[in-house]
Amino acid sequence: MPLYEYHCKDCDNVFEMLVNFSESNKKVKCPECESENTEKLISGFASCGSDSGFSDAGCG
Ligand SMILES: [Zn+2]
Repeated sequence: MPLYEYHCKDCDNVFEMLVNFSESNKKVKCPECESENTEKLISGFASCGSDSGFSDAGCG
């Protein structure tokens, strides 16, 4: 199962949760305040193609 990061807009908490693909579009509850006012964060650690203005030299 993929691990997703979520951000709670109510208490500004960021938490991780394992979510089935079929459930990935569902709202998840914040474990801190139990609000469903959360948003899924796009996780990713590849920095190639950033908007820093550099060329893509060294980006494979
Ligand atoms: Zn919260």
